[in-house]
Amino acid sequence: MSVTVDVSVVIPAYNEADVVDRCLEVVRAQLGAHLAKSKRSFEIVFVDDGSRDGTPEALRLASEADSRVRVVSLSRNFGKESAMAAGLEAARGRAVLLMDADLQHPPDLIPRMVELWDEGNEVVSAVKAARARESFVYRAMASLFNLLMGGAAGRSFRGSSDFKLLDRQVVDALAACPERSRFFRGLVTWIGFKTAEIPFTVAPRIGGETKWSLGGLIRYSMKNLISFSAMPLKLVAAMGFGTLVFAAGLGVQTLYRYLAGQAVSGFTTVILLQLILGGLTLTSLGVIALYIAELYDEAKGRPVFVVRRPRVIPAVNAAVSSEAPDEHD
Ligand code: UDP
Ligand code: MG
Repeated sequence: MSVTVDVSVVIPAYNEADVVDRCLEVVRAQLGAHLAKSKRSFEIVFVDDGSRDGTPEALRLASEADSRVRVVSLSRNFGKESAMAAGLEAARGRAVLLMDADLQHPPDLIPRMVELWDEGNEVVSAVKAARARESFVYRAMASLFNLLMGGAAGRSFRGSSDFKLLDRQVVDALAACPERSRFFRGLVTWIGFKTAEIPFTVAPRIGGETKWSLGGLIRYSMKNLISFSAMPLKLVAAMGFGTLVFAAGLGVQTLYRYLAGQAVSGFTTVILLQLILGGLTLTSLGVIALYIAELYDEAKGRPVFVVRRPRVIPAVNAAVSSEAPDEHD
């Protein structure tokens, strides 16, 4: 992608008709005020992630009214990670800033983030210092997930968010990671580069609703953990080894009791062994199955997203194709 503007802001939007207009207005004002001083250009790239409400129409009007606003329309709902990947691919900026459409990522942080980039940072990460009005379940899930991810990646994910500014070379480096199961925050951390952090308070949504259900959050956490790290597999290996040592100890003891003529009916030992070995075998098989599922998914090599382009079908062709099935039936 050729670099033609200074700053791109990428905003994934799925059923955000209530908020996109307001979002655009606020983000454009922040960018305009800050970048005008240094005579720098910007663009705002919305990724319509297969919305079924008024989002596509609102975005179409916005892009017609302002050439700095561009829209990438995905052919269906691919999920936020894919939408962000599509936005990163479309962005033409020397720096690319990603943020949510619902303004939970405060846009008044944008000037400071650009400043930190100007100061030589290649990644500027906004870190959640406080979470406002998020449900208990959401917070508990997020904390557990960040703890596990942190353990898996060997560095803290506490408060990490997708609200980030990336220098062009970081965007290019991300594009060179071919994995399909993308965990953006994890990839950015893994990729490295000079990183600055900036704390923020998560604002309440300005409208609409969160797209997360409890099931969705659990699936998202599991998928990211499994696709980003082999830590669970290593844990199972460690547990397996621990059990072996334990079983050996128990075996020696049982044998000793038998030889010393102290052996009772021995049911306790048998049941214990059965439970431990059976349970562990099954857990191990479960984890291995998850990895195989993940490998399977990767091996299929489907595209991360498919872009829907406006269709121009002459009326005559449309009539012919709608009649065609009848003729052949
Ligand atoms: N989003 C998206 N595709 C999806 C779900 C969400 O592009 O399938 C966008 C959504 O429009 C918003 C951002 O991702 O801009 C964050 O979503 P949401 O606010 O629902 O998540 P939360 O802030 O509650 O974690
Ligand atoms: Mg949100």
